[in-house]
Amino acid sequence: MASAQATTLFINAQIAGEEGPRDLLVENGRFVAIEEGLAQSLPAQGYDVDAIEIVDLKGKLVSSPFCDTHLHLDYVFTARKPGAMNETGTLFEGIQRWSETKSDLTVDEIKSRARKAVAMEVHHGVQYIRSHADVTEPNLTSLKALLELKEELKDIVTIQIVSFPQEGMYSYKGGADLVEEGLRMGADCVGGIPHYETCREFGEKSMHKVVELAAKYGKLIDVHCDETDDPNSRFVELLSALAYAEGIGEMTTASHTCSLGSADNAYFFHLTKLLKAAKINFACAPTENLYLQGRQDTFPKRRGITRVKELTDNGINVSLGQDSMQDPWYPLGNGNMMIILDYVLHLAQMMSFPEIDDALKFLTINGATTMHLNDQYGLEAGMPANFIVLDASNVFDAVYQRCGILRSVRDGRTLFTSATTIDSDISLLQ
Ligand SMILES: [Zn+2]
Repeated sequence: MASAQATTLFINAQIAGEEGPRDLLVENGRFVAIEEGLAQSLPAQGYDVDAIEIVDLKGKLVSSPFCDTHLHLDYVFTARKPGAMNETGTLFEGIQRWSETKSDLTVDEIKSRARKAVAMEVHHGVQYIRSHADVTEPNLTSLKALLELKEELKDIVTIQIVSFPQEGMYSYKGGADLVEEGLRMGADCVGGIPHYETCREFGEKSMHKVVELAAKYGKLIDVHCDETDDPNSRFVELLSALAYAEGIGEMTTASHTCSLGSADNAYFFHLTKLLKAAKINFACAPTENLYLQGRQDTFPKRRGITRVKELTDNGINVSLGQDSMQDPWYPLGNGNMMIILDYVLHLAQMMSFPEIDDALKFLTINGATTMHLNDQYGLEAGMPANFIVLDASNVFDAVYQRCGILRSVRDGRTLFTSATTIDSDISLLQ
């Protein structure tokens, strides 16, 4: 039997889809058992119950931690820098403003801003973040900063980093080489931005390069793909076909894919067959794209988001992202994934009761699938004891109330509770 100090029994947990409360036994940072009435049966199994820490979760909803699968930690809190103001509210002016104001970045100041953003996300129940790091900058300052932060905060949050060419692989001189250098330095994913490249041929070439690099270095893929209202921006088709041919579709994510919101149904119908076969993932950033897209429209004005409902109904994985926190692309964004979920349910018109009752999947298992967390995620015996407690007793009420987080547990250790706010373990984030 494990030592008492390393053993905690969390009792009266309401788990989505389960009848009645469950108890969660945690030893040495992992779930040992999740069952009904565990507290009563432990003595018969040889446990000294008096030596076990017992935490009563009082019938509140317990979930795997939230995943924010699309965030730019190097950009956070830069919206008010001189010269960073995005007057038109378009994606392309955002990129221009960032490009013009990024020359003074330092590792320390990026880490300080990103730390604050991570703290906000963690307090909203997030323990898994996929962050892009802009590598179209010769010193790779963003990537260096985020790689350091990933290591420093690994006991609090899992951060995956994308080697992301914000200004293009071929439209920025040496962009493709910088992406590759980022992978050698330790980035987890290959990024791309084909719709931003100066011509379609460069965009297509970049998709070939992304898949080639992923195969060469054994990395995941996350491409900013078709983030435009242009229905003829169809790089997701090429990305999917290449990833499918390489057999790495499940390791591939297409982020944004706003153009699918404008594409015609006949095209989408045909494309769906490929997406299902390739098993690629989609990451949607609803608040940001609602704000950025449709800027060339008068009325009717497009919503800017990808086909979340139709992809989901076809069995294709869709997860969500905050994307921005006060950066040149979006002036708000506070890391509250319940707000992101609320937006997507409205924008995608996914409000049947079964859809609402199942909605937390977008922030949990779907996110873990996008991040390819495989056997390291979930409320199951043997998994890392990572979970959150929501201030609701069922999923409907959690969504209905856009409820807050009462407790976050990582490797069996409580990071914070709503009563303590912050304990010493999370002070790294301050
Ligand atoms: Zn993005």
